[in-house]
Amino acid sequence: MIYLNNKLVPENKALISVFDHGFLYGDGIYETLRIYKGVIFKLEEHVHRLFRSAEMIGLKIPKSAKEITKAVYKTVKSNRQSEAVVRITISRGTGPLGLDPSLCTIPTFVIMSHAFRNYPAKYYDKGVPVSIVNTRRNYGPALDPRIKSLNFLNNVLAKIEAKGNASHEALMMNYQGYVAEGTVSNVFFINRNGVLCTPGLKVGILDGITRSIILNIAGELKIKTKEGCFRRNDLYNAEEVFLTNTSMEVMPVTCVDDVRIGRKAGNLTGLIHIKYKEKVAEYIGDHKS
Ligand code: PMP
Repeated sequence: MIYLNNKLVPENKALISVFDHGFLYGDGIYETLRIYKGVIFKLEEHVHRLFRSAEMIGLKIPKSAKEITKAVYKTVKSNRQSEAVVRITISRGTGPLGLDPSLCTIPTFVIMSHAFRNYPAKYYDKGVPVSIVNTRRNYGPALDPRIKSLNFLNNVLAKIEAKGNASHEALMMNYQGYVAEGTVSNVFFINRNGVLCTPGLKVGILDGITRSIILNIAGELKIKTKEGCFRRNDLYNAEEVFLTNTSMEVMPVTCVDDVRIGRKAGNLTGLIHIKYKEKVAEYIGDHKS
């Protein structure tokens, strides 16, 4: 079942207009959430980011945070899913042709939930290859990467390039040539001094919810961290590299372009992932009721 505007409808009835400005202009926003044991992980953070994205594009969400939470649980329950990935999509709505947002009066509101399918175990055991692509991450003053917008062409073009290289993820640089992020993930690496590094928010990236959990975990493990500006060589010379996002959690990287990562024994990525899973378990325990 799909939650469309104010009700649950079967998938084949979940239809929107060809005049929807989300379809016509990519005018809208979204969030992806993960459900563990029937509990939405970090719900508040995701809803908060959803409202921030909406504000940044001048879109008024037709529901309160509480109503959205209820609707998400209703959708997941109706689909009888306890391990799931949920996407909330809100577009500007239906209106005549033309870019002016005021042409649309009611935003289109959709919640979709899919049973979570584990990534192949070997991705976590061995890692995945990634490549640094030529497509640059959106220039902030043109389209701020903090907006989780439906206008995803920047990332799609990067993904097309990475597919050509048979890579799992495409890493994009920002307009200045600093490493920014993946098409759907943030990137971390451990340098030769054991410092956990990740591009700073000023580079022009999405402030991933998983990213901030990882930085907290590093603090708890007394691992030094650095958020800053990094070049491709920093990744090539790293001891470990990993990707993070809500659905893949912490995924190790085997090679960046043609460079194999991990010349030294020791696996901080694995330890961080274990701690992440502990945090999930703790959160689920605390929010079960
Ligand atoms: N960067 C981009 C471009 C993304 O689409 C995502 C996925 N939402 C992320 C980073 C990771 O964010 P999160 O940890 O909140 O899923």
